[in-house]
Amino acid sequence: MKLMEFQAKSLFSRYGIPVPGGTMVESVEGALEAAEKIGLPVVVKAQVMTGGRGKAGGVKLASTRDEVRTHASAILGMDIKGYEVKRLLVDPAVKIARELYVGITMDRGRGCPVLMVSGEGGVDIEEVARKTPEKISIVPVDPVMGLQMYQARRAAFEVFAEKKKAMSAAKVMLQLWSCFADCDCSLAEINPLAELADGRIEALDAKIVLDDNALFRHPDLAEMRIPQPDELKELRAKEKGLSYVGLDGNIGCMVNGAGLAMATMDLVKHLGGKPANFLDIGGSSNPQKVIDAMELLLSDPGVEVIFINVFGGITRCDDVASGLVEAVQKTRLDLPLVVRLTGTNEDEGRRILADAGIEATTEMRRGAELALQRASGGGSA
Ligand code: GDP
Ligand code: MN
Repeated sequence: MKLMEFQAKSLFSRYGIPVPGGTMVESVEGALEAAEKIGLPVVVKAQVMTGGRGKAGGVKLASTRDEVRTHASAILGMDIKGYEVKRLLVDPAVKIARELYVGITMDRGRGCPVLMVSGEGGVDIEEVARKTPEKISIVPVDPVMGLQMYQARRAAFEVFAEKKKAMSAAKVMLQLWSCFADCDCSLAEINPLAELADGRIEALDAKIVLDDNALFRHPDLAEMRIPQPDELKELRAKEKGLSYVGLDGNIGCMVNGAGLAMATMDLVKHLGGKPANFLDIGGSSNPQKVIDAMELLLSDPGVEVIFINVFGGITRCDDVASGLVEAVQKTRLDLPLVVRLTGTNEDEGRRILADAGIEATTEMRRGAELALQRASGGGSA
């Protein structure tokens, strides 16, 4: 789960990381009040769960009341990469001398957390990473020992020549580590960490991604969740006992069992197709679950074909087939459907499907090939 900037900044401040100390508001009036309280000039910032807000016009400096009003009304309601702006952060504006990058994330390749530091911070760290990776120092961190003082200092001296500044940057890195480790983050990032005109350093942006699997240890953080449209779907699925993860392909997959669901996605991908989702309907063959799953798939406008892959073990194929027939009728399915059904009571299951005019294959590969064929523009399997 991701936090928004204003939430991430409040978490940072718990760990002593210097942040501007702004106010989150949800209206133009609120922005004006906040600016009044903070004192002009202020920075008006779109609060959405995506980066690149600056480039999209979602971060504006306001030196007068009128500018606060103009910027706040322009940014509220703005669409940034598909996210509607409903909240603003009004921060006191600061004079920036230099923008740096400091982040901590899990490095799968190295199998440990890493501290990343660069003197080339600001809006385009991905570009720096691609074109001039040597400008980013990477420091592997022992997960048991944690980030050590000497590591933080060494990294800080790579971006600050002056001792005093380097020491305060090293302190921020250690505080960021405490935050990352305590809160079970998978990413804690400051971009930019700004060196201000008066020599202080301050975190002007904040990004935190929390590990969902550790959220049970942090009920206070779990409460901060602001569900996003795509997440809402996953949460609703969860309430219905389905595990669903939306993807951007066109082949809607419905599978029993997480392992088979993964294998189904792999196979679709391997054949040159694009899965629209991961969906595990679990072991039960309860028709309602199949209906719920079907509705979930149909709510994704990108889905062009439905591929159902069932291996009947404890789940019996005849039960699944009955559920499926009911689901197809209830949802008035008008998309092409491909069913692969095999395992316990498969003959009976296929007979039930055939009676309803639904053909089924027993071969997973054959099923995936058919699904690709029936999705428009889905390759030539
Ligand atoms: P992002 O584009 O989504 O990463 O949003 P950021 O919060 O990083 O803001 C983008 C840029 O706005 C920063 O890199 C800064 O250059 C600038 N910015 C943010 N806060 C301030 C501020 O208080 N004063 C000034 N002058 N610029 C700021
Ligand atoms: Mn940023």
